[in-house]
Amino acid sequence: TSARERKPDWLRIKLTTGEPYREIKDMMRTKTLHTVCEEARCPNIYECWANRTATFMILGDICTRACRFCAVKTGLPTELDLQEPERVAEAAEQMNLRHCVVTSVARDDLQDGGASIFAATIAAVRKKLPLCSVEVLIPDFMGKKESLQIVMDAKPDILNHNIETVERLSDRVRAKAKYKRSLELLQRAKEMYPDIPTKSSIMLGVGERTEEILQAMDDLRAVDCNILTLGQYLQPSPAHLEVARYVHPDEFASLKEEGLKRGFSHVESGPFVRSSYHAHEQVKSAEAR
Ligand code: SF4
Ligand code: SF4
Repeated sequence: TSARERKPDWLRIKLTTGEPYREIKDMMRTKTLHTVCEEARCPNIYECWANRTATFMILGDICTRACRFCAVKTGLPTELDLQEPERVAEAAEQMNLRHCVVTSVARDDLQDGGASIFAATIAAVRKKLPLCSVEVLIPDFMGKKESLQIVMDAKPDILNHNIETVERLSDRVRAKAKYKRSLELLQRAKEMYPDIPTKSSIMLGVGERTEEILQAMDDLRAVDCNILTLGQYLQPSPAHLEVARYVHPDEFASLKEEGLKRGFSHVESGPFVRSSYHAHEQVKSAEAR
């Protein structure tokens, strides 16, 4: 099937809005806060916000990289907002979050890649919301171990770093990243703090083959990665990487089984799954390990 055809039925969902969603939405409007949930027009927003989970993007909105699947602007960032950790914490408090995901663009222009701002954000959210779990979805910090150490020392509840795709397609899909470097980051995180669960994500539908997905799962398990998310790639604009195929929900379900068989403690797998989808449940399952 050519992906240029209409989207399959399972990708056309009916959106429903509930009370908690509306409450948060109104509050967001008055506070002029920015979440990835809203800016990426994530289809899970109603469910996530109702579950008091949200994702914040820190370190600005201009990225030093230009991955072919990603809608974030590329350029030379100028911003470094030292008040940002505090603002994220205030927002998380206002939203009364149970699970707060913090992510960023790649800031290859900064000495520590922004690691100290990640660490400060974890600390600030903890201070305001001691019961809220904090997950960080970090860039690869160009493989700098010191930067990773700064983030890990702040002890996030989940350390998330995406390999995004299978090894063969990695260079094409995210030119400035490296498959092996991402695996190495996950391995180092585990060596630094064995009790902090690690997590990674693969987007499907960019041309990968099933055996390559299984190999990527094996590679992740070989560095003791605990949580896996698998979702459908959707093209943000005609200028971005084309969708190679739409993966059927049944295939997502069988890949979930494959993941669990390989020893991941939690696998989220489905067309709308994004890195932070159902993340609050993953904290629970990680704790129960
Ligand atoms: Fe926000 Fe992530 Fe949930 Fe999407 S999946 S609504 S980005 S927390
Ligand atoms: Fe997008 Fe992240 Fe790639 Fe930057 S590094 S282009 S934010 S996926």
